Amino acid sequence: MQKENLIQGKTGEWEIVIGLEVHAQIKTNSKLFSGSEASFGAEPNTQVSFVDAAMPGMLPVLNIKAIEQGVKTGLAINAIINERSVFDRKNYFYADLPQGYQISQFKFPLVSEGEIKIKMPYGERVIGVERIHIEQDAGKSIHDQSPTESFIDLNRSGVGLMEIVSKPDLRSAEEAGEYVKNLQQILRYVGSCDGDMEKGSMRCDANVSVRRAGTEPFGTRNEIKNLNSIRFIIQAINYEAKRQVELLESGGAVEQATRLFDTASGVTRVMRTKEDAHDYRYFPDPDLYPLVIERSFIDDLKSKLPELPEQKRQRYLSAGLSEYDAEVLTSEKEIADFYDVVANDNDPKLASNWLTAELFGRLNKASKTINDSPVSAQNLSGLLKLISTNEISGKIAKDVLDIMFETGKPADVIVAEKGLKQVSDTSAIEKIIDEVLTANPSEFSEYKAGKVKLFAFFVGQVMKASKGQANPAIVNELLKKKLD
Ligand code: ADP
Ligand code: MG
Repeated sequence: MQKENLIQGKTGEWEIVIGLEVHAQIKTNSKLFSGSEASFGAEPNTQVSFVDAAMPGMLPVLNIKAIEQGVKTGLAINAIINERSVFDRKNYFYADLPQGYQISQFKFPLVSEGEIKIKMPYGERVIGVERIHIEQDAGKSIHDQSPTESFIDLNRSGVGLMEIVSKPDLRSAEEAGEYVKNLQQILRYVGSCDGDMEKGSMRCDANVSVRRAGTEPFGTRNEIKNLNSIRFIIQAINYEAKRQVELLESGGAVEQATRLFDTASGVTRVMRTKEDAHDYRYFPDPDLYPLVIERSFIDDLKSKLPELPEQKRQRYLSAGLSEYDAEVLTSEKEIADFYDVVANDNDPKLASNWLTAELFGRLNKASKTINDSPVSAQNLSGLLKLISTNEISGKIAKDVLDIMFETGKPADVIVAEKGLKQVSDTSAIEKIIDEVLTANPSEFSEYKAGKVKLFAFFVGQVMKASKGQANPAIVNELLKKKLD
């Protein structure tokens, strides 16, 4: 029990218990059981096959790509991949469900017993994932086009989903938010779901109950449906927990129900009271064989799994980066991929600094993301190589980066065009030093009389006279010789 997570009621402290069911749209070209396109945003009812519209006699054909994505996701959360799983019919009536049932997995899911780690201010927590099952999405009802009619868009009907069900291991709204963020990151790294909550490709149902701090049995839960942002997940859980605490403290009892979160008013409202698995009359779909996958299929996917955020973070830490930098660089796969290209040929810290401070700064100012950066990873890498081989100074490099950002040209081309190469030739620098000393006779004699602080003044003058191109180390060395 974590003190930070307890909520204070009138009669004592309470603990929130949360389990999340996340529906993640599987990234595939076609739907789970038909060849129609699964992409988002098309004109209504333009991506509907006879199977998706449940025409009589149409048979489902499993899309193996969707299963690959499910297996990859399971592997990424250290789960058991079940070599045998079964598709069931979950029966219910709704206008946007033409089959009258949803094909899902019930008793035998594709994936069981995984885990997702979250980092909280009070330490790392490991959250259990009970299962991932594969199922089809329903269509969409449209109620806001006409005051008297409702419309149905079946584009989404039959699109493949992974339902990722956590154990009731989460203990605060913040932990739930962190869990969803990490899950989203894992899905994006693996490439099994784009994770875009605002487009509906990732939706979350939150099961919430409360119990008195330090007591064992769980309270009765309410399930809040269809939360589509992390902020709403946090708001809805906190509202719901508080509601339950107040109800229990005033002598009431929590009734199991399914609720909706009203984002405008910030409250949850009952949608329907308790429904149980047996209400859905689950049974194995007679149109589909049990799904049996071979060990070699799983092993093959395992060997092709990309490096995951946690592994990357560890690798960056052991390369000498700070916790903070490792966190920033792994926050998005695109950033990590970019960094890896730059760090491949350069010092890790130099690469990290120039990416997070210099390039990100310019991207932010221009309201751009790493994906539309005018400076490619190869070109940033090229710039850093010029710095580490002393061809340009760090100061000049910042100006070069500005030009790279505007023109997209590689660093060496810009340096050659503008004649920015660092001067390391001692006779050229010596000549500049002599000029500077002659031009500042009074400072020169003050220095000679003991005002050694003026050394920095001379360095500055020489750098200025060379337009920043003189190699500072050589300037220092030569100046010392001349002055002492
Ligand atoms: P269903 O919603 O189909 O009845 P489950 O009973 O397996 O499915 O639970 C669904 C989710 O509810 C899981 O994420 C689980 O962790 C969570 N859950 C179960 N019991 C509780 C509880 N008492 N409080 C909070 N969450 C719970
Ligand atoms: Mg449920």
